[in-house]
Parts: sequence; C-alpha cells; structure tokens
Amino acid sequence: MSEFALIDRYFSRKGSGIGDDCAIVNVPTGFQLALSTDTLIEGVHFAKDANPVNVGYKSLAVSLSDLASCGARPDHATLCITLPQHDENWLSAFSRGFFECADAFGVKLIGGDTTKGSLSITVQAHGFVKIGAALLRSGARAGDAICVTGTLGTAALGLRDSGTNGAPRLHRPTPRVEAGQALVDVATSAIDISDGFHQDLNHILTQSTVGADIWLDKLPIATSVTKALAVQAALSGGDDYELCFTVPQNRLGILESINATEVGVIKEGTGCRLIDADGKIAEHDTKGYQHF
Ligand code: ADP
Ligand code: MG
Repeated sequence: MSEFALIDRYFSRKGSGIGDDCAIVNVPTGFQLALSTDTLIEGVHFAKDANPVNVGYKSLAVSLSDLASCGARPDHATLCITLPQHDENWLSAFSRGFFECADAFGVKLIGGDTTKGSLSITVQAHGFVKIGAALLRSGARAGDAICVTGTLGTAALGLRDSGTNGAPRLHRPTPRVEAGQALVDVATSAIDISDGFHQDLNHILTQSTVGADIWLDKLPIATSVTKALAVQAALSGGDDYELCFTVPQNRLGILESINATEVGVIKEGTGCRLIDADGKIAEHDTKGYQHF
C-alpha cells in the first residue's frame, strides 16, 4: 500500500480537509488558539507489545489533557506517525483507538505526516479558550486552596500490579476536559499531572513564586493497596492525567460541580511541605518522572 493509500484508508475521514498542503482553521471571534504537542515513542512511552488501540487512544488523550489544564475546548488535531513497516492490523487498531478518543471529545483530525522509521507518534492538539482566560501555571497566590481532580497514583499502581484498576488508567487516561473548562474564571493556576503530583505541583509553585502545604491524609488515593504505598504513588506516580489547580478560598464551591478534592494550601515563600494527619511535617520520596 502506498503512503497516500495508507493515509486515505486509516486517517482521512470525509470533510476532514486532509489532502491539502495546509489545514485551514478559523479561530472563533473572542477566542485564542491553545495548542500542545506530545510525542509517544515505542519502548519509552509504551511497550513494544502494547495494544495499538490503546496507543492510538492515549496518543491523543495526553494532548487533550494539556488543553484541559489550560481550560481550552479541544477542536482539532494533527497526527505525525513514523512506522517501521506497513502493518494493516496495527494501523487499523491504532486508528480505531485514535478516533475513539477524538469522537469522545469532539476533535477532528485535520492533517499530519506519515513517514518510515522507528515507531513514534506525535500529536498536536488545538483548542479554543476565551481571550485572556487561559489557565496558566503562574497565577497561584498565598492562601489559595490546592485541589486535584479524580484520584492520584492509580496509573502508577497499575504498573506494579495489573490487578488494580490502574492498568486501564495507565493505558487509557481520561483527559479532564470538562473540569478544565469549568475552572476558567475560577482557578488561579492549573497543570495536568503527567509526571507525578508533587513534581507537577512544584511547577506551579516555581512559576507562581509561592510555597505549599500538602495534607497527606486528604490526598484522594486508591483504596486497594496499603496506605503508605498509595500515598507514595499519589505523590510521585506518573500518568494520572488528573488536573492540579489552585482556587481562592471563596471559590471552593466549584468542587461541588467537578469531581475534585482540596488537598492543601498555597503559602508564601518557596518549597512544598508534606503534613501528616497529626500536623507534623512528613518525609517522602517525591521524585517524579524525568526523561533526562
Ligand atoms: P506533503 O507532501 O505536503 O507533506 P503529505 O503527502 O505528507 O503532504 O500529506 C498529504 C495529506 O495527508 C496532507 O493533507 C497531510 O496533512 C495529510 N496526512 C499525512 N499523514 C497524515 C496522518 N498520519 N494523519 C492525518 N493526516 C495525514
Ligand atoms: Mg508530508
């Protein structure tokens, strides 16, 4: 099958605009374009024998998680895929997973590139956010509540033990797109948790030049394992794709309309203190994932 037949068979849908040299996009009046790119590499981000349906799903989901953390509404995406060979079964499963995620979040695939080489997938997702309203990492202020959506550490626990519900969470993360949009005009900062809650929260702290107290007994953790293991996974486990955000105390009512938990408070100064149930400062290994 030629490169063009392959694109046609697996990636272009009617009316998608695929087939022209450029994809042409209108940004609605009053909105800005939010865009994010992520690369998934075989052997680094997914195993050689990973189910291609899940690889397709996750390759888009991780970029939608970035749009969610900025409060953007996803609209369209491009897909650059490098393949070692033309494998019909793999491609058809991959494209099924990709479009499953695209359809779930109303995203159109509008272009991309197809090349031969070691298996790698780069997705760029674009969304729209009201002018000036994007949630950034730099807006947290002393006194703001620190909150997270969903539960933490489940994906990491799935890595250790495929019997927990972490396995689906690891392979098919749910980008918190609705929560992100609900936080526009409410949250003062936000980030998606891809490399471990503690490490990702620290990006907010650094960029906002503030510190934080985290209440360990308030962390929304998996109940299927011992507490110590669950807390450890919640602090440093990767691949959760939940949102961490800060809100002024008088906007905490937002927690009634999105599934999220208050887990700490922004402080003046720098650094992040971990506070245990009796109010004592606790020590934990909090190193998150880093490529280098
Ligand atoms: P060019 O020669 O200009 O680089 P290509 O031949 O690479 O164009 O691509 C032809 C068309 O197919 C373009 O519209 C491009 O955006 C689209 N396309 C190529 N690969 C993919 C892909 N993996 N997914 C979606 N669209 C793709
Ligand atoms: Mg090309």
